[in-house]
Amino acid sequence: MAQPPNSRRQARRASFTVQFALILLGVGLATAIAAAAVAWYETQGITSQQVLNSAARSARLGVGVVRLETTTVSASLACEIAPLGRTAADFEAGGAALSTLAQSVVSANPGHLLLFTDAAGTILAGTTPKAPLAELQPLAKQALAHPRSCSKGGFFLGTGTKVVGAGVAPVSLHGHTLGYVVALTPVTAAILRFTAGLISSQAGATNVLLVSAGRADLASRVGRLDVASGAPVPAGIEGALSSPSHAAEATVGGRTVTVAGQPVRSAANRLLATLVVVEPATGVTPSATQLGIPVALAVACVLLLGMAVVFLLAERYLNRPLKRLNEAVQRLGQDIYAEAVVIDGAEEITRLAANFEIMRRRLRHQLALAVGRSVIASTLTGNAPLEQVLSQVLMNLSSVLGVDMAMILLRSDDPNQPNFLITWGMGNPTLEWSELESSQGIIGRLLREPRFAARSFLNPDERGPLEGRLGIRDCLAEPLMAEGRTLGLLIVANKHSPYLDEDTALVNAVAVQVVAAVEKSMQLVVTRHEATTDAMTGLYNYRFLISYLDQQVNVAERADSSLSVLMLDLDHFKAINDTHGHLAGDAVLRAVSGLVVDTIRKSDLAARYGGEEFVVVMSNTGREEAQLVAEKIRQAVAALEVKLDEGLRVGVTISIGGVSFPEGTRGARNLLDLADRALYRAKRGGRNRVEFLDMAVTTGS
Ligand code: GH3
Ligand code: MG
Ligand code: MG
Repeated sequence: MAQPPNSRRQARRASFTVQFALILLGVGLATAIAAAAVAWYETQGITSQQVLNSAARSARLGVGVVRLETTTVSASLACEIAPLGRTAADFEAGGAALSTLAQSVVSANPGHLLLFTDAAGTILAGTTPKAPLAELQPLAKQALAHPRSCSKGGFFLGTGTKVVGAGVAPVSLHGHTLGYVVALTPVTAAILRFTAGLISSQAGATNVLLVSAGRADLASRVGRLDVASGAPVPAGIEGALSSPSHAAEATVGGRTVTVAGQPVRSAANRLLATLVVVEPATGVTPSATQLGIPVALAVACVLLLGMAVVFLLAERYLNRPLKRLNEAVQRLGQDIYAEAVVIDGAEEITRLAANFEIMRRRLRHQLALAVGRSVIASTLTGNAPLEQVLSQVLMNLSSVLGVDMAMILLRSDDPNQPNFLITWGMGNPTLEWSELESSQGIIGRLLREPRFAARSFLNPDERGPLEGRLGIRDCLAEPLMAEGRTLGLLIVANKHSPYLDEDTALVNAVAVQVVAAVEKSMQLVVTRHEATTDAMTGLYNYRFLISYLDQQVNVAERADSSLSVLMLDLDHFKAINDTHGHLAGDAVLRAVSGLVVDTIRKSDLAARYGGEEFVVVMSNTGREEAQLVAEKIRQAVAALEVKLDEGLRVGVTISIGGVSFPEGTRGARNLLDLADRALYRAKRGGRNRVEFLDMAVTTGS
């Protein structure tokens, strides 16, 4: 059975909606992920720039620290010493005392060089350097080329690959400059390490190098790489330094680092070297974490929304349809088959519901057919009259179909056959044929033209007074057809709900069964009739006579009532056959039979005993009364003229023997024997006469 188009459409709509919701959810998630990715990517860009800026700042800071540790220290040292050396004697003595002074100062401040020069700049004395003082002369000259006020601080000097912080202070006496104190502090690897430690955000992670002409001025470290003094700096760093901003990312020893350079210039603004800061380019930055929160929130919102959508979809397409399906199953459990299963929900449930609906219809159909079959069975096997069987059909059919009322209308053309007007659920007062036939509504119309009966929605104009009284809204009728003949109608009617297509098929199937039941029932009536009746005369046959007579003898015995039996035999009947033919004989037999039936009472029974012999059984009838009846029959037969073909008329006489119960009789057979004996006497007595057996004589003879 195909799924109804309506439910197919619903199923399709359900799957579309699910797909649409899934697409929405997918798009939402994709958008959120894309937005988060873009935001993250941008953050990465900003963070890199920030790291570079931070490295550049570190480099500037590094130069400041180195300046502080060398030039500032030198300047303050020079300024401190200058007043101590202010003796002309010292300067004039050529510096022996100054040397001692210088050495004592430097031993208190290691890492520094101290020089005393005359006013022209020639070195007079100094700390004992490894190199002779003369070698320091160019340095002293360089230093003296710069402003010498203590307040102006120190400056960088360059000696080949070395960078030195210098401070100069004049030694004056009475406004006369005797000479100068020059303090020098070389930039050492220890100072660079100290600087690195100071500017490092993470302990030990930052390296500081002093680079000139691509080579390290001092031995230092870059990450895990040791760079010897005078060795070329790692390639990555050199490349990064050539960038315009002096800050870039580079790969050194397989690690990504941030490199920033800051020039170290002399007082004459000559580039002496470049201070290089190397910092590790490490992972998560604070800004990325800050961004993570809104991204996480957005994702959470999308997920929540998605869950809400999933919940709603589950409710709409899973929970509710499943609940309805469950109710439908329960209805079947309670033998309620008429209500259709709602086909709705997710695709699988829709399919399940559709299959279930098919099952329900089949079940309902099978039940309806079973109802029909049971009708036929009970008609054939049971002794219940057809009317009772059909009432049962209506009741069962109504419960299977779930209809409010039902009726079977059987109208026979044969006046001897009964009409049936069987109703169910119509309430009181009961319907009359006359009311049905005169109905101007749908029922009257169907009854007048049953061939046109079919599914019919009740229009307002098809609602006559009868339909109005019964409260019929929708009516479904099937003609009961047998071999092209219309036997009647099967009508089911609803007060509220209209019928479904499936009901038409059901009613049709049941109608077929009802017809079969009616036909069988009618056939049974005929068979029963044939079994008890003589076909030619229409009188009861010998078999029926015997059982009837047995029954009547029993009744008469129990009730102590009388009972008379007549045996009749046509006189010289053979002669009629011989003269006029067998067919004429038959006509005479039928005419006499009709005459006998007409003469006796309704409560009496006439049977054909065989050939041209008949028996009449009269209950509650004594001998005198029976003799009168017998005489009446005899006279009527004698007066009878049977018309034959070609205008011939034939007359006949009858001899009758009678006996009355009890009068010493014993049972049915004995009664018949005695009547036969009386008949024999009538024949012998000259025929056309009635003889009753004198029981006293009979018993005696
Ligand atoms: P009686 O007065 O002694 O009774 O003479 P009868 O001729 O009537 O008696 P008999 O028994 O000699 O003949 C009966 C005849 O009835 C013989 C038979 O052909 C005829 N008969 C028996 N049954 C039928 C029947 O069904 N139709 C016709 N036409 N004749 C029948
Ligand atoms: Mg006879
Ligand atoms: Mg006879």
